Amino acid sequence: MADSQGPLDLPDDHLFGLGNLPYGVFSTADAPDRRRLGVRYGDQVLDVASAVDLHPRTLSAPTLNPLMAAGRTVWSEVRAAVRQVLTDGRAAGHLLPLDQVTLHLPFEVADYVDFYASEHHATNVGRIFRPDGEPLTPNWKHLPIGYHGRAGTVVVSGTPVRRPVGQRKPPTEPAPLFGPSVRLDIEAEVGFVVGAPSALGEPVDQDAFRDHVFGVCLLNDWSARDLQAWEYVPLGPFLGKSFATSVSAWVTPLEALDAARVRPPERSHPLLPYLDDADREPAGLDLRITVSLNGHPVAEPPFSAMYWTAAQQLAHMTVNGASLRTGDLFASGTVSGPGEHQRGCLLELTWSGQNPVQLPDGERAFLQDGDEVTLTAWAPGPDGSRVGLGEVTGRVEAARQDGASGS
Ligand code: MN
Repeated sequence: MADSQGPLDLPDDHLFGLGNLPYGVFSTADAPDRRRLGVRYGDQVLDVASAVDLHPRTLSAPTLNPLMAAGRTVWSEVRAAVRQVLTDGRAAGHLLPLDQVTLHLPFEVADYVDFYASEHHATNVGRIFRPDGEPLTPNWKHLPIGYHGRAGTVVVSGTPVRRPVGQRKPPTEPAPLFGPSVRLDIEAEVGFVVGAPSALGEPVDQDAFRDHVFGVCLLNDWSARDLQAWEYVPLGPFLGKSFATSVSAWVTPLEALDAARVRPPERSHPLLPYLDDADREPAGLDLRITVSLNGHPVAEPPFSAMYWTAAQQLAHMTVNGASLRTGDLFASGTVSGPGEHQRGCLLELTWSGQNPVQLPDGERAFLQDGDEVTLTAWAPGPDGSRVGLGEVTGRVEAARQDGASGS
């Protein structure tokens, strides 16, 4: 156990310094069933309940949900207390090396919604799938398009992802085939985690975003393009997406991203009042994402290029009176920028497999068994510092042995 003479200071350029302080849930080898709230500081984890003398029932929970439900005043209070014990040295003795803990899914996921908020992504996908039509559907510039995903298959970073099996119908085949997906892909996304709930029947205004949203994670929306292409008409994504969605083990509080707030791109269409954000605080976020495949960077999608903000998405998904629950997770949709190397999925990066990505061990049109995908990101912090988002990583495992028959 470290004692108090060790300085807790980190280099100014550390991605997980005092300006960051993301939350997670960890256990240790000597007590594998005892899940505790942690705050990442440098390459260590602070045992929050033991270090901070506040809200003991909330902070000794095995998930972030009670803290997330407690609301913005408590979030700020706990964050300030964590900073204080890290600054004055009282945290010494409550820090564990990151490589000696096991990280768990940090919150219990309530509902999961995935949006489609990048104009560049939606345009590229439209060009690939509908080469002779308008790339964007007529509704795209008027509302943030989304679908309800599967909350129960959201998994923490590091969880292996088994290649799904299902139906696909190549255009050359008269009938659908059954078997492992042959077009397994990723989607680099940012997830927003709801803390404070809202009442059924009461829409949540964009300006109330920071009262309800606790923080941000990185998210990989694994996608089987062949299953998706056959099943999605007319009700949208289903089994091509629901087999796994990976999230980072760390949830970065919104307060840590204050210096990263930017105005979203110019809107080309007038918006209805509940979505209009021209006279509101800037709600875009300058997050710089890197997508790595087997350790090799293949794309750098800029989150600042997203057309729809998370505040607009929150307003839209509650405008009909749908309520929010603690643990609701809504994701941005694939993050893609205007450049060829800013595309957040292989479908776009390889243009549906036509231009494979080059890796040292060969090329990839889509993912092979054994491939490991990692998303990382950072954001500008105060005074030239940087705020790192926790990584989300996952390795593709071969499909089930009996998955080829459909029996
Ligand atoms: Mn997605």
